[in-house]
Amino acid sequence: MYYFEVSLSWFTSPELIVELKKMGILTVATINRNRLRGCTLKSDKELSKAGRGAYEVKYEKTSGMSIVKWYDNKAVLLASSFIGPEHVERCRRWSKEKKEYVEVDRPHIVKVYNHNMGGVDLADMFAALYRIDIRPRRWYLRILYYLIDLSLVNGWLLYRCHLTQKQEKKYMPLLDFRVKVADALIKVGKQADLISRKRGRPSLEDDPTSHQAAPPPPPLQRISAPSVDVRLDRCDHFPIHAEKRGRCRLCKNGYTQMACLKCKVLLCFTKDKNCFLEYHMTK
Ligand SMILES: [Zn+2]
Ligand SMILES: [Zn+2]
Repeated sequence: MYYFEVSLSWFTSPELIVELKKMGILTVATINRNRLRGCTLKSDKELSKAGRGAYEVKYEKTSGMSIVKWYDNKAVLLASSFIGPEHVERCRRWSKEKKEYVEVDRPHIVKVYNHNMGGVDLADMFAALYRIDIRPRRWYLRILYYLIDLSLVNGWLLYRCHLTQKQEKKYMPLLDFRVKVADALIKVGKQADLISRKRGRPSLEDDPTSHQAAPPPPPLQRISAPSVDVRLDRCDHFPIHAEKRGRCRLCKNGYTQMACLKCKVLLCFTKDKNCFLEYHMTK
């Protein structure tokens, strides 16, 4: 089975491409001109003289690697271990001088690269949107944070892949997705009082040796619903009496003062209706 890899130019070298091919991974990537290892190609000037769409291909038989230099608005250098030099197609480009679309020659490798490059570029862009902004003293922690950011982006993209066309119109934004994941990681399977416990030194009121009455439950501040994972984790979902009556989170037409300690939402619990149970049992 062959895998297919597109990488950013600062990682690409002919040695890497050859090594990856040995492992069964095929590559198409941009490559820096100082890593061509003696492979000589026409200069940018020569290509620009030949006009837009001019290109030059060098092919190395033993490794099956090709290097393509293509001149569009500027010169682009691409290397690949699976796309040969033979394919050239025409593509439509906007010409600034002529102010119209013109047909330009384009080696097939450029098309393959552009088609797949979007993924690498996009993932990087998404990861940059809400980066974990911690500056640790230990440098390698940054790599860990980057991997967490990237995993979150990949998770979000997978979530979007699984949406139906109708759902896709109202997909969850990346920021909300991150908040949900964080929320679930903090709360799933954890005790409710541990979550709401204050940081720092315990105050007198929290002192377990003082025999005061338990403090009243905190007011329901939560606006959004808890994530499904938290809701169904069957840990510490105890009923509490809320300060104010309000609409039930589940059935929407019942008014109740009964709430869940962990989820912080109002839920009915009457003779005919047990929204509390249903909310914590069904997906
Ligand atoms: Zn209800
Ligand atoms: Zn609950």
